[in-house]
Amino acid sequence: MPVIGKLNIVVTGGAGFIGSHLCDRLVQKGHMVTCVDNLHTGRFDNVRPLLNHRNFSFAEADVREPLDIGGPVDRIYNLACPASPPHYQTDPIGTVKTCVLGALHVLELARSTGARVLQASTSEVYGDPEIHPQPESYRGSVNPIGPRACYDEGKRCAEALFFDYRRMHGVAVKVARIFNTYGPRMLENDGRVISNFVVQALRNKPITLYGDGSQTRSFCYVEDLLNGLELLMESDDQVTGPINLGNPREVTVKEIAHMVLAQTGSRSRLAYHPLPQDDPRRRKPEIGAAAQALGWQPSIPLEQGLRSTIDYFALKVATPAPAAAPRREAPTAVAAGPNRAVRKRRAALSAVSGPA
Ligand code: NAD
Ligand code: UDP
Repeated sequence: MPVIGKLNIVVTGGAGFIGSHLCDRLVQKGHMVTCVDNLHTGRFDNVRPLLNHRNFSFAEADVREPLDIGGPVDRIYNLACPASPPHYQTDPIGTVKTCVLGALHVLELARSTGARVLQASTSEVYGDPEIHPQPESYRGSVNPIGPRACYDEGKRCAEALFFDYRRMHGVAVKVARIFNTYGPRMLENDGRVISNFVVQALRNKPITLYGDGSQTRSFCYVEDLLNGLELLMESDDQVTGPINLGNPREVTVKEIAHMVLAQTGSRSRLAYHPLPQDDPRRRKPEIGAAAQALGWQPSIPLEQGLRSTIDYFALKVATPAPAAAPRREAPTAVAAGPNRAVRKRRAALSAVSGPA
């Protein structure tokens, strides 16, 4: 990693699973970090320990509206977007807007400040792939009208915008195509396979296998992914990506279930459920480009990453959730007030559940 001085860095989606680990790491390296998040799937608890750090500020804001950071910006990591199928499918129109308007707004911010901007794209741009493993040159097989399209096509459109801003306005862009990533701070009710299986196993509840469990994924531990994201961000200007970041070890979903059962010593049984529509049958990244351009490859074996993830969830499962919603406490360091979409969401929430 090249040695860089203190930078002003914006992380959208910084209260989420990957984003909060990224904020931790960037603050620890001495950068000034502004986390922008509407707390849709992220948790204030994820960034609470950072709030007393003078290099960190939190802005409760929605990337579907223009971003006003009010100061110099050198780097923007655009991670804001629900990532698990149940979450992004709950409000598919909102998901498209987050992908597309969010990309537009971070690109405009980059254009006006001269910042470099990295897009957290996804292996979902390959859809249900006909080529295996998937190289960056593969253009994908996405169902544009299915239930996953809001995310897949939203992310594809975001990639298009990134390259149009580079061509038209000379914005320094970087696009990472992230494959399935896991680790501590995934949401307990996230709906993604590793968090689901681990929580179910720890509670001795049935393990929900969709389909026959023969579909494959390749799982990257969050620390490995962060190394790749940072290397890509700090790479030379001509390294734009899109570049795959993922762990090429491919496993079936059923194998994952057995690994989790073995590591937790759980009494859970397997319970088969229908395969969701358009669920990709297999997925494995080709990572030669990341190795060549960034000198990156993942190093944390699945067994080791699962251990840390299980340890994290074991603590969560053992600790009852607090009665009040703690994330609504006023943050001690806030860069900007909530923008219009956040205020609207709060009003809708308090109409349903009373004032927070
Ligand atoms: P996450 O849901 O934990 O984090 C997303 C964060 O974005 C949350 O904090 C959420 O509150 C915030 N957010 C959502 N909509 C927003 C909006 N309109 N305005 C402001 N903030 C908003 O998910 P994650 O796994 O940490 O994923 C982070 C990014 O990486 C996402 O863009 C996702 O598409 C991408 N990605 C993740 C994976 C993975 O396996 N985890 C794989 C591919 C791509
Ligand atoms: N899956 C499963 N049981 C679950 C959650 C997911 O069998 O409780 C399957 C899902 O159908 C998919 C794979 O695990 O084939 C990965 O799902 P996830 O939602 O984690 O990621 P994505 O499908 O977006 O890659």
